[in-house]
Amino acid sequence: MTDPDAEKEMDSYFIDPEIVYHSKCERPGDWRGGRVTATGYYVYPYCDPRCCRPTGPFADKETALEWSHSQMGRSDE
Ligand SMILES: [Zn+2]
Repeated sequence: MTDPDAEKEMDSYFIDPEIVYHSKCERPGDWRGGRVTATGYYVYPYCDPRCCRPTGPFADKETALEWSHSQMGRSDE
């Protein structure tokens, strides 16, 4: 994505992303690629969750949020 407006929108998503706790072997309806492989907190992607797998697991919400903040300004993913 090179559109500056889209990048800004993406940054604002990473400031306050959807973080969801999942336990191992759970199979959420919007989870792409089968069951959850490890228990923890997952950051849902900016795009449709069925498009990309959420990132994680993280030990707690703070760590997940820190990771998300570290993604701001990136367009290489
Ligand atoms: Zn995607």
